[in-house]
Amino acid sequence: MITTEEPVNTGSSSKINLLGLPKRKLEQFFAELGEKPFRAAQVLKWIHQRGVVDFAEMSDLSKALREKLAQVAEIRIPEVEIEQKSRDGTMKWVLRLDSGNSVEMVYIPEAERINLDDVGDGYVDPRRAKYTDGLSRATLCVSSQVGCALACTFCSTGRQGFNRNMSAAEIVAQLFMAEHRLVEKSLPSDRKISNVVFMGMGEPLLNFEAVVDAAEIMMEDNAYGLSKRRVTVSTSGVVPAMARLQERVDVSLAVSLHAPTDSLRDVLVPLNQKYPLKELMAACDTYAPNAPAAFITYEYVMLADVNDSDQHADDLIRLLRGRAAKVNLIPFNPFPESGYTRSSNVRIDRFMRRLEAAGITTVPRRTRGDDIDAACGQLVGEVEDRARRGERLERMNLRPTA
Ligand code: SF4
Repeated sequence: MITTEEPVNTGSSSKINLLGLPKRKLEQFFAELGEKPFRAAQVLKWIHQRGVVDFAEMSDLSKALREKLAQVAEIRIPEVEIEQKSRDGTMKWVLRLDSGNSVEMVYIPEAERINLDDVGDGYVDPRRAKYTDGLSRATLCVSSQVGCALACTFCSTGRQGFNRNMSAAEIVAQLFMAEHRLVEKSLPSDRKISNVVFMGMGEPLLNFEAVVDAAEIMMEDNAYGLSKRRVTVSTSGVVPAMARLQERVDVSLAVSLHAPTDSLRDVLVPLNQKYPLKELMAACDTYAPNAPAAFITYEYVMLADVNDSDQHADDLIRLLRGRAAKVNLIPFNPFPESGYTRSSNVRIDRFMRRLEAAGITTVPRRTRGDDIDAACGQLVGEVEDRARRGERLERMNLRPTA
């Protein structure tokens, strides 16, 4: 029987979760059941386009096949543990997986009209938008691992350590839930989610096969049909996996750069000690010419007095000059005991202008969801702290007070 992943303990069910099978694997699954390959397209549409999770409702399948599917397969989605909604429309959910772990996903709506040819990473640069259509952009930021092993020092998820890889079904479930269950029908477009970014918890390229399968499903015409410009995988720089990603699936790439020199990046993104900037930039240069929009997005979190000086901007210009690059400047979202503070707006503006003067496309992202726990991993961290506190108190025969 087909498997979706490298082994991942995601729960006790022995049934295969069809939510995580891209078309090629679903065809193989039906072949093993003695069915024709076209069943894959039918079932993809039922699940991902119509949001149906009960095989009995799949009316264009024979009764015998529906019964067979109910015996060997399922369409299982996680439970919502916490939902937070920001004043600006940003929504954040903590999902409880079968294994008892929690992960986060974030929905970021954009009210502006946008240019569909704009970059595919989910963030609109209002100064560049040509307003050629009336669709709104709504980005879903998905998690790919429970926790993260890479321990970037400014990241709340990194502080929690690594727990396990998510399955393709668990990754796709985030889009399924946002599309069919969670986001109100408040947007002027049929499509509630227009962009997906793999920028939630975890390093996507360290969960390679599941991320490839999930990205395939997101871009599959019989499923969500997102264009390759609108599905962005973000990496902290797992260099050997970058070329492999491009061989397997045609998606946009974002690189979490955050520092323009090895000495600083070694501290902020410890993975840099293994794959220093020279190797990372060479991998980017290989990826960029065939990337969906022929460039790479570089994410740069703005940390006051750490990486935001004029000198840092000049070093970044030197690093990116001549490269097919776009820089996103991200105001740091503080979380307790991070040890960092957010750069001031004045400083971010000055940094941006310096890059722009050097001809580097630079987009200062607005802070979103400021009134909710917006730092990635922060909410799950709080949930797990509470759970651990509860366990400790129970061990001591005490009850939590709230
Ligand atoms: S920034 Fe990304 S890669 Fe770094 S620790 Fe956080 S989740 Fe992991």
